[in-house]
Amino acid sequence: MKNYIYLLVTLLITSCMPNTNKSKEINIYSQRHYDSDKMQYKKFEEKTGIKVNVTKAGADELIQRMKNEGDNSQADLFITVDVGKLWQAGEMGLFQKIDDQKVFDNIDPQFLDKNGYWVPVTYRSRVVVYSNERVKKEDLSTYEDLANEKWRGRLLVRSSSNAYNQALMSSLVANLGPEAVTSWSEGVVKNFARDPKGSDRDQVKAIAAGQGDIAIVNSYYIGLLLSSEKEEEINAGNAVSVFFPNQADGDRGAHINVSGIALTKNAPNKENALELIKYLTSVEGQETYVKNSFEYSVNPNVKPDEIVQAWGEFKKDPVDLNMLGIKRDEAIRIFDKTGWK
Ligand code: FE
Repeated sequence: MKNYIYLLVTLLITSCMPNTNKSKEINIYSQRHYDSDKMQYKKFEEKTGIKVNVTKAGADELIQRMKNEGDNSQADLFITVDVGKLWQAGEMGLFQKIDDQKVFDNIDPQFLDKNGYWVPVTYRSRVVVYSNERVKKEDLSTYEDLANEKWRGRLLVRSSSNAYNQALMSSLVANLGPEAVTSWSEGVVKNFARDPKGSDRDQVKAIAAGQGDIAIVNSYYIGLLLSSEKEEEINAGNAVSVFFPNQADGDRGAHINVSGIALTKNAPNKENALELIKYLTSVEGQETYVKNSFEYSVNPNVKPDEIVQAWGEFKKDPVDLNMLGIKRDEAIRIFDKTGWK
């Protein structure tokens, strides 16, 4: 009898416990490919006891997987390095809205999704880097000017299948319209120093090796090169300077993209997932990103790393970030039409 009462009391207590204690894990599908994330999840696990399971793959692959898994998907969160993919997956009905004031309180409102389907964890600019030996800062001005024939045979950039390039092209379509951007892209292709290949880091290394003079790359890769343990990478980082395009008075500012996170439609561990979003956007979480991946913080209380601060502040293109998804098909058509491989 005593045992029976004990069991009954235990059952009563456990059934009254809040949902958060039901499971102590979260499943993340992530496209992010930086060491900062391992540190981030380890700290969160230590703090909360919630185990973080990460499945890493390309964004398209992860979107397809969520779609195939449907209501049975164990994924709670989807993280990308491009807002366009978040917009796309949101359109496919794969997410639920994030409605948590504590999350919003962490984030500068200019980076928030007006529709509420994704939350930014960092932002980055796609900048122009230039050879310290062969280019003067005064020679650079705008993305538009990269089509100028003074750059013939001097411009390095990766392939058009890359989401960072597609996002940049989408922003240009949103700002300038498809016709102007088509002739821009024709000019840019003529200016290529070589056929597009390799990663953003490889473009910087190519400048250091004298294969070209300017390159279009994401800002944080310069921080990653300069803080690398490999001498070749440090040398590449030191061979270039960072330039933020379109900064003149009245101009729109440099293109930015966000790395963002979304809550899946059927997230089995929703409370834990929201807990992680709160942590990633908190001052502590944002410091881990800025110090290790050299991205910019979306929390106004966190400054960039010193390496990044040295590039100075810059004006950001204020275009609605969802445009980087909405204009994507158009952007890809322009790449194909103008022969940007
Ligand atoms: Fe990247």
